[in-house]
Amino acid sequence: MIAALVEDRCTNCNACVRACPGFVFDAGADRPVIARIEACQTCYLCELACEADALWVNPDEASASAPSPAELARSGQLGQIRRDHGWNLPLDAGQLDDYRLLGPLLNEGADIAARRYASRG
Ligand code: SF4
Ligand code: SF4
Repeated sequence: MIAALVEDRCTNCNACVRACPGFVFDAGADRPVIARIEACQTCYLCELACEADALWVNPDEASASAPSPAELARSGQLGQIRRDHGWNLPLDAGQLDDYRLLGPLLNEGADIAARRYASRG
């Protein structure tokens, strides 16, 4: 689950707030707040969306523990999933464009699922 928001990297762009299908984040004055961690689905969309490489999701879906920010940076884990999947490249970079499009598509799917869930009363 979401385990770290490295404060001194965060630009308060709120991309993670918009990307998260579980509505885990609330926007804040200086940076987002992890407000509903129990709703985290360990989907990594927030990490993918964070251009500042300020987020780290623990692959253990039951664990919110994280190495220190310094250790995350030193080990190259901050931004690793973005680099591994080409989300750090320009939008016209080529062969990974279709993969990057999955982000908005997945969000759209999450919105549809949320509306269906809400309509069940
Ligand atoms: S891993 Fe997915 S569900 Fe969890 S905070 Fe990030 S975007 Fe939200
Ligand atoms: S996407 Fe990253 S930089 Fe933007 S608000 Fe979220 S944590 Fe901060």
